Amino acid sequence: MKIDLHVHTSEISACGMLSAEDTVRLYAEAGYDAIVITNHFAAYNKERFERAGLDFFSEYMKGYELARSAGERYGITVLCGFELRFNRNENDYLVYGMDEQTASDCSSIFAMGPREFSALAREKDFLFYQAHPFRNNMTVVYPGYLFGIEIKNGNPRHDSRNDIAAMWAEKYGLHGIAGSDCHQTEDVGASGIITGAAVRNINDLVAVLKSSDYTII
Ligand SMILES: [Zn+2]
Ligand SMILES: [Zn+2]
Repeated sequence: MKIDLHVHTSEISACGMLSAEDTVRLYAEAGYDAIVITNHFAAYNKERFERAGLDFFSEYMKGYELARSAGERYGITVLCGFELRFNRNENDYLVYGMDEQTASDCSSIFAMGPREFSALAREKDFLFYQAHPFRNNMTVVYPGYLFGIEIKNGNPRHDSRNDIAAMWAEKYGLHGIAGSDCHQTEDVGASGIITGAAVRNINDLVAVLKSSDYTII
């Protein structure tokens, strides 16, 4: 299966130019079997929804649901992930397998840092990666807090220094993942993973990522 692990949709990510519907259609046309919607899960985004009188977490899940139901129509699996940012700095993290109840307490999560969130991820058995750790304005975090890092980020408007990220992952024994960081049409299908395993839900994906049973594209 061909899977993109890092995809944004415009209903939830203000920087996204593609609706959930268009994103899913373009990924189906590009031959992907699954995508993970990783919209911005951050205090600045929560505040943006609250200024409009909306509850951030329920909108976040509604945004995912739009993509998931489009996936049913276009015949591709759509899973829910998170691109998390904590309150104290500009690093971004990718999270897979965090349950809805844990995620719904978003203010508590945003108030954490990587150390505390890492402990939560271990306790609840979900996966915590730093996204594009060598982009400008990012600070690479202590490897012991992370399950892995993004070693290939396909976003063409940033230099993610993927070569350095890959070496860093190798040096510290971190699991490497890849995704397009799709925000607009030209980004669709820039990267991702290929696995022989059948990924039907987020638990299947977590199992694939844990077992390293995939290759980077
Ligand atoms: Zn974005
Ligand atoms: Zn992103």
